[in-house]
Amino acid sequence: MLKIVYAPDPILKKECISLPQVDDHHRDLIKQMYAAMYEANGVGLAAPQVGINKRIFILDSNARGEEKSPIAMINPTLISIDEKIVPYEEGCLSFPEHFAEIDRPDQLTIEYIDENNEKQTLTTDGFESRIIQHELDHLNGILFVDHLSRLKRDIIIRKMKKYKKENKRSDEKKI
Ligand code: ZN
Repeated sequence: MLKIVYAPDPILKKECISLPQVDDHHRDLIKQMYAAMYEANGVGLAAPQVGINKRIFILDSNARGEEKSPIAMINPTLISIDEKIVPYEEGCLSFPEHFAEIDRPDQLTIEYIDENNEKQTLTTDGFESRIIQHELDHLNGILFVDHLSRLKRDIIIRKMKKYKKENKRSDEKKI
């Protein structure tokens, strides 16, 4: 099982690299990313969150429902974005138990290639659009806390540092 990288970590702040094409190695990675995302009860996961510096993310706005709707986006590019801004409470698998209200545009159109190297275009809004914007940020080294005031961000980062230290200690005890 892939291990999810917790913030703060330099890998989460790096810009990711485009793929020339999707091969079996990437398809296997995507499969493992789905397993890690569903296991962690998440709705989206970007490659840097599992330590891979490539422009790949997955999402499933129905991850917690009966009928799953998984999508893998490779080399995604925003084509258009709404002028209408909406607030929404976001979390992130790299920030367990932290949530914050973030303003973002509602509707978007995005172009990407799928696992089979097919070019796709998706226009969506609401929850799915929100996840896409959050994951796209990850590929550019931007975290949801970067949309907050410095004060709010610093508080969360400080708590995460403490959380990581405690986690490391309990991991060491298990050995
Ligand atoms: Zn995230």
